[in-house]
Amino acid sequence: MQNITILGSTGSIGVSTLDVLALHPDRYAVYALTAHTRIQQLAQQCAQFKPQVAVVGNADSAKELSRLLLAKGLTTEVTYGEQALCDVASASGCDTVMAAIVGAAGLASSLAAAHAGKKILLANKEALVMSGQLFIDAVRSSGATLLPIDSEHNAVFQCLPESYQRDPAAMGVVKILLTASGGPFLHRSVETLDTVTPAEAVAHPTWVMGRKISVDSATMMNKGLEVIEAHWLFGAPASQIDVVIHPQSVIHSMVSYIDGSVLAQLGNPDMRTPIAYALAYPERIASGVVPLDLTAIGQLQFTKPDLNRFPCLKLAYDALLAGGSAATVLNAANEVAVEAFLNGKVGFRMIDQLIARTMDKLPVSDVTDINSLLEQDQLARSAVRAFIS
Ligand code: NAD
Ligand code: MG
Repeated sequence: MQNITILGSTGSIGVSTLDVLALHPDRYAVYALTAHTRIQQLAQQCAQFKPQVAVVGNADSAKELSRLLLAKGLTTEVTYGEQALCDVASASGCDTVMAAIVGAAGLASSLAAAHAGKKILLANKEALVMSGQLFIDAVRSSGATLLPIDSEHNAVFQCLPESYQRDPAAMGVVKILLTASGGPFLHRSVETLDTVTPAEAVAHPTWVMGRKISVDSATMMNKGLEVIEAHWLFGAPASQIDVVIHPQSVIHSMVSYIDGSVLAQLGNPDMRTPIAYALAYPERIASGVVPLDLTAIGQLQFTKPDLNRFPCLKLAYDALLAGGSAATVLNAANEVAVEAFLNGKVGFRMIDQLIARTMDKLPVSDVTDINSLLEQDQLARSAVRAFIS
């Protein structure tokens, strides 16, 4: 029996994870569930999965959840705040942590799981992008297991030999090829991009996801963050990580080897496949995903990304090459700019301009500990807010 904490259980990844767990009650028990604002939904999840602990954002939400749980006759312990998230991520009662909070809000709890030597199923790519080497060091020194949930990285992981140790050359790996759908604006005229609405930006052609990652997919910052994520997970330099536009989202990514072989992982675009793979690794379990019907799809297409259309992708490569605090700044600036776009404060094309101006403004510095990291994160957020106002 594996005992699981799901950080962000009310989100898109959290719900997909619970879907898979519900298929295998003999293998998995839920230790803790966490949510930020959707308290009713969390109460329903508690009724179905009977966690020992539930964590919410603040004292008022905790009161509301306690009242709902009491009415259902449940004895789940209710706690709140960031320390409580870290506690359920590192508790001795939990073996596996699904890190599925969106953005920097998930950093502390993901890191707590890493320091505690847990099996970490990492969906929260922003945590790894912003903390990089610190995260990898925490995983190494505690003996934690880090398994990627992001579909591309999960695909790459499946295409690498089991003995792979963050060293491409040692295993004859020449390139990591990350596929990208291109998002909703792949063919829209660049001149009209500034008039797109948040509703248009979050309407992804092939995946159903949370709002922030959906906007990231529309700007292709999502792929940029994934390039940095791939660097940390697989130890490949920027020059060995390529992005290929593949609108069907059937090939989830590929690994190109020195002998000319290219291995790919295919499947329907449904996050329950990578979630099930990481949960049961190295075994395979049913995920509830419908089988892939290749003849119904008919054609798979591939093109190069256009960096004029998607400047965020270039900004992410620039940040990876710059090293130090650059990816932390990139991530923080992106989070603030995307939120401003979703709240109608700035146009779509302002997202990349705000990030570029912030990266120009803040000199790259060394990130040696969590405090210098958080300082860079805050400096970047303040800079973007100042530009916006
Ligand atoms: P979502 O918006 O649907 O859910 C986010 C979850 O985080 C919710 O449970 C919410 O309660 C919680 N949360 C939000 N702000 C919080 C805060 N300040 N403190 C504590 N908890 C907070 O997002 P999602 O689409 O499920 O994405 C989650 C993560 O997984 C992101 O990092 C995303 O990039 C990554 N990811 C998602 C997908 C996908 O298909 N949705 C695919 C790959 C990677
Ligand atoms: Mg992805």
